[in-house]
Amino acid sequence: CGIVGIVGSQPVSERLVDALKRLEYRGYDSAGVATINGGELHRRRAEGKLVNLEARLKEEPLAGTIGIAHTRWATHGAPTERNAHPHFTAGVAVVHNGIIENFAELKSELAAAGAKFQTETDTEVVAQLLASLRREGMGRREAMHAMLRRVSGAYALAVLFEDDPSTIMAARNGPPLAIGHGEGEMFLGSDAIALAPFTNEITYLIDGDWAVIGRTGVHIFDIDGNPVARPRQTSTAAA
Ligand code: GLU
Repeated sequence: CGIVGIVGSQPVSERLVDALKRLEYRGYDSAGVATINGGELHRRRAEGKLVNLEARLKEEPLAGTIGIAHTRWATHGAPTERNAHPHFTAGVAVVHNGIIENFAELKSELAAAGAKFQTETDTEVVAQLLASLRREGMGRREAMHAMLRRVSGAYALAVLFEDDPSTIMAARNGPPLAIGHGEGEMFLGSDAIALAPFTNEITYLIDGDWAVIGRTGVHIFDIDGNPVARPRQTSTAAA
């Protein structure tokens, strides 16, 4: 399973799938990619191997210079296209590796408040919770922070908000996440190997960190919302 993201200046969907191929060694059962294009979120997903996702993208290409992508190793919900990430809810797109331990409790709370769940995954509560917090009037960062304070478990997360086509938000608690520094583009990946074709300049998030990634840099915060500094390192991963 794996996560990649690009806040780019050039089209991203092919590059995202190429980066996912470099994470295939982790195993997966389905895959998907989302971009923002023309002010709207769009996605393609497929069961099985990345060749299936590539075939979907060939039929129906995905434009856009910002995007997130995912290989899923199903823990909650069958490995179907419907359960494949990215999950979309009301202008929010989410990919996740790991397990949200308190998803059942959050799901019943959100469903009682009117949320319509589309999948059997634990992950969808993250998208639904973010959408619900935005509806309550929270800004994007505020909603991301509030969501992270509600979920428990292991996660690497990447989030797109449709109303901000120049930022990816990410969070780590358990599974690793690396942020790659490019020239006028920024990258996100489960490891530096995935990002090696793009950049070797890497900042690793540590558990409890969350990040706001723009085209020219990243702001990292701890779980209390305080800005934190994480070192930038040069990775030796081969392109
Ligand atoms: N628990 C999530 C799911 O089953 C994510 C699995 C993964 O790590 O890929 O959809």
